[in-house]
Amino acid sequence: MRYLFGPVRSRRLGRSLGIDLVPGRLCTYDCIYCEIGVRKVRTCRRQAYAPVAAVLAETRDFLARVPDGADVLTITASGEPTLHAGLGECIAGLKEAADLPVCVLTNGSLLHLPEVRADLAAADIVVPSLDAARPESFLRVNRPAACIDFAAMLEGLVAFRQGFAGEIWLEILLVAGVNDSEEDIAALKPWIERIAPDRVQLNTVVRPPLERFARPLSAAALEAVAARLGPRVEIIARTAADRNGARQTVNEEQVLAILARRPCAAEEIGRALNVEIASLRPLLAGLLARGLVVARHHEGGEFFQLAARSPDRLQGVRAHR
Ligand code: SF4
Repeated sequence: MRYLFGPVRSRRLGRSLGIDLVPGRLCTYDCIYCEIGVRKVRTCRRQAYAPVAAVLAETRDFLARVPDGADVLTITASGEPTLHAGLGECIAGLKEAADLPVCVLTNGSLLHLPEVRADLAAADIVVPSLDAARPESFLRVNRPAACIDFAAMLEGLVAFRQGFAGEIWLEILLVAGVNDSEEDIAALKPWIERIAPDRVQLNTVVRPPLERFARPLSAAALEAVAARLGPRVEIIARTAADRNGARQTVNEEQVLAILARRPCAAEEIGRALNVEIASLRPLLAGLLARGLVVARHHEGGEFFQLAARSPDRLQGVRAHR
């Protein structure tokens, strides 16, 4: 599958069939916590990166082969999916192809553009990010492209809420000592009120980040922030999905497709593919031995990620967190 990955089991979304619209490493940001091992090429240029017809054909083919294979179609990208100029056409095509909700994961940086808001209008769920409501923290954590205006980004989130009929799940990712100060949390609060998302999801650096200095908040610190931000806030860092109905087999191609998008612990791969860890271990050992996958350690956990010498077709495919 060139543009699809998964379905992966997501606590938030169920079985989520991932759709990559911007294969490559383009983004409007270059976040210090990004799970990709290289810095982003920053741009605000919208264009048809992945051919929409090919994306839709691949989706229809998957759904024909596995009619009950997904609970939600999730548009994400190696970088920022709203950079795709055919996003609206793609969402409309997906709605035609399947009676499934369409979710879009975005960093929210381009929501000030009316054409981006129009493109997203037919989605069922949009999950934008807001990591900082103070300009100095925004610059430190998201390292935006020069074409991104901080105030416009914030107002774009508000404008999107005012015109969007679906659900908005606002994700806030905090990095210890970077965007988690008293002032940062205080600044976020009024913007959460203005944006009025249906959910607020609090996250931290749970996978190996681009910059090693990007450290996670402790569970206690996250709880304290959640309490300050209000009752609608849920902590999504390190949440465990249930493992009911785990199947017994999985192949290398499926594991590499997951790891091409983000580093994962063995348990996460198991949850994503609904497979027992015991049957995953020998497969991971084989991939490590052949140099297709490398292991990295982060905050006491072992994560697997695609090695530099993995097949080219996998190297360009990475996902927004
Ligand atoms: S974390 Fe998401 S928004 Fe930030 S640089 Fe990576 S892909 Fe872009």
